[in-house]
Amino acid sequence: MENLYPISRIDEVRASSYKLSVIVPLFNEESVLPIFHDRLEKTLSGLHHDWEIIYVDDGSTDKSHLILQRLRVNNSKIGVARFTRNFGKEEAMSAGLRLSTGDAAVIIDSDLQDPPELIPKMITAWLGGADIVNMRRRHRSGESWLKKATAHAFYRVINRLSDVPVPADVGDFRLLSRRAVEALNLLEERNRFMKGLFAWIGYKHVTLDYDRDARAAGITKWRYWRLWNFALEGITGFSVAPLKIATYLGSAFAGMAFLYAIYFLLKTLFIGESVKGFPTLIVTVMILGGLQLMAIGIIGEYLGRLFIESKRRPLYLLEEYEPPSSSKAEANPMMTSYN
Ligand code: UDP
Ligand code: MG
Repeated sequence: MENLYPISRIDEVRASSYKLSVIVPLFNEESVLPIFHDRLEKTLSGLHHDWEIIYVDDGSTDKSHLILQRLRVNNSKIGVARFTRNFGKEEAMSAGLRLSTGDAAVIIDSDLQDPPELIPKMITAWLGGADIVNMRRRHRSGESWLKKATAHAFYRVINRLSDVPVPADVGDFRLLSRRAVEALNLLEERNRFMKGLFAWIGYKHVTLDYDRDARAAGITKWRYWRLWNFALEGITGFSVAPLKIATYLGSAFAGMAFLYAIYFLLKTLFIGESVKGFPTLIVTVMILGGLQLMAIGIIGEYLGRLFIESKRRPLYLLEEYEPPSSSKAEANPMMTSYN
């Protein structure tokens, strides 16, 4: 791996002293948190560089928060942010990115599906000049075939529709340089489809392959309905193509109806027509009715998102934030929300 990313002269300077931030969004992870932290800390202590861990507790209702507080008492390099309720992983990642102060930031799941031991490899790629190091899963152990199949279909659809390519099988496990973090922090939209946002900011991407482990303990927080909504966010947030589908389908059917009308007129003129044709009529009405509803539904999806964006609510609210003691970030309790 080291040979793949030769360290350039500028990066020698960067390599001589840097600080790494590790951002961990978590929601009800009491069963795996202690093991996760052990493995992460072991990896980070081997780096011989400065580091901090920002745990973002996304409104856990179990003992996760107590565990985090205990970890923080033992190690001042740990920062703990807590949301006022469960806002969602995307929001938790956004909060972590805003609170991090390192020269590079790694986002990692707390369930050990993303092995912390890969962080040194990611750093090597960053030192070699990459701004974003994407981690692509080679296998998804412990996930059902249905989840794998739907994930595959989702990436196909979004890449057909979206203007920026969203790499398939790349989750949220990635490293970002400071300027990539700053760029992401500039994006103010409520629709936090992070996989799309990471692609949108551009910069030099490098993709490394890894084997995704099964969850070490606990259960997945993503039910299918939630994943479906997540996919809708992704598609409507990054493409207006579905709006066009409605236009094209509508025009095609209108055209067909017009031809059918001409045919019907000629037939009546030359052959005559009794009260037959009721089935054709009802079928036509139903198809058109269905199409119209579909088009209205698509418009509604966008309108709904416009509505949410226009309210300009903060992305999340912090119940409290205890920064790592080495960091200069403010622990001002009044500063509890970020746009
Ligand atoms: N997570 C979160 N907020 C949520 C749901 C999940 O912060 O509302 C965290 C969760 O604790 C874990 C990561 O996001 O660290 C990935 O979640 P999970 O493992 O449940 O998803 P999967 O790996 O099954 O896609
Ligand atoms: Mg997981």
